[in-house]
Amino acid sequence: NRRGLLFGTAGAAAASLAACGKGEESKQLTGHTGIAMPTTVSDRWVIEGADLEKRLQDLGYKTILEYGEDDVPTQIQQIQSMIDAGVEFLIIGAIGNTSLGEVLSDAKNKGVTIISYDRLILETPDVDYYASFDNYQVGVLQAKHIISRLGLSQDSTETFNIELFSGSLDDNNSQYFFQGGMDTLEPFIYSGQIVIPSNETEQEPTSTQQWDPKLARERMARLLDDFYKDEPLHAVLSPYDGISRGIVEALVAADFEPGSDDFPVITGQDAEARSLKAIKEGTGQSETVFKDTRNLAEVAVNMVKAIVGGSTPEVNDNGTYDNGFKFIPSFLLEPVDVTAENYQEIVVDSGYITEEEIDNAP
Ligand code: BGC
Repeated sequence: NRRGLLFGTAGAAAASLAACGKGEESKQLTGHTGIAMPTTVSDRWVIEGADLEKRLQDLGYKTILEYGEDDVPTQIQQIQSMIDAGVEFLIIGAIGNTSLGEVLSDAKNKGVTIISYDRLILETPDVDYYASFDNYQVGVLQAKHIISRLGLSQDSTETFNIELFSGSLDDNNSQYFFQGGMDTLEPFIYSGQIVIPSNETEQEPTSTQQWDPKLARERMARLLDDFYKDEPLHAVLSPYDGISRGIVEALVAADFEPGSDDFPVITGQDAEARSLKAIKEGTGQSETVFKDTRNLAEVAVNMVKAIVGGSTPEVNDNGTYDNGFKFIPSFLLEPVDVTAENYQEIVVDSGYITEEEIDNAP
């Protein structure tokens, strides 16, 4: 694809050509950046939007920040206005991973550099860089937490009932989280040490559209009704803190008692204040996966900064994330497992959140 070749991986050269119209002199880039975030419903994106803005503004770059509130047409329209306002860079946390082709094609024609932020944008040649985490590892950590809390090993003889939840089907990350979890649980499923009474083991039936906690609560309530009237439930693989809290609500409504011995092991992701509180106090999920979004914001801003300065952004991976057109040059960070034992060190001592914010979470 010609456009892909011209702008896809050529980095700085393409970027400095970017502002070049027909016969015009190459214009110096100013760093003007549009930040399109997916939602304010989950804390991480709120923190990151502000963080990205501040980092870019500290470099003297103009910014536009918008939240699409989980609505694809809204996000497309927001990106279009950013292009019309003359941004040179787009940092996009996509809502629908395959829905941005047309608007990005327009951006690319105007010389904009496109950074896919956290979630990979698919089926378009017009993504230049990807800043994210090792998303497969997120699922691995969640499954390992379940394995360790249940005391599962090759030689253990007990059998445990587990249910599985996955994220939104239109988010490219969901499949990585789920696959990482399933690959890690699989030996125990084959050996019969883990049983999934509902038999819902694929991504689709376990999915949670738009990561909606309410949908997770409803599905959990149905599973409890259908399969757990007389059976214990030992663990739930959950991909995201909001979903985990929805699951806990359904359990509490069905008279499971948080903190008691027969409360299932529940995982999570994002280190949200309310979930950290539950982890700390033993009143809900017992784990979350922390992805240090400060580092992610820094990676994305460094990409912009490099291009403005006429160099090529640093990447550390060129062969993991294929968006259907090409492998996107990526910078991937490591997720970290957080439990009651290490939350202080990982999220409090590092300055991500204060103990007070955790204690005061609703
Ligand atoms: C992100 C997760 C987040 C989820 C819901 C995913 O794309 O990677 O960190 O929990 O979206 O917002």
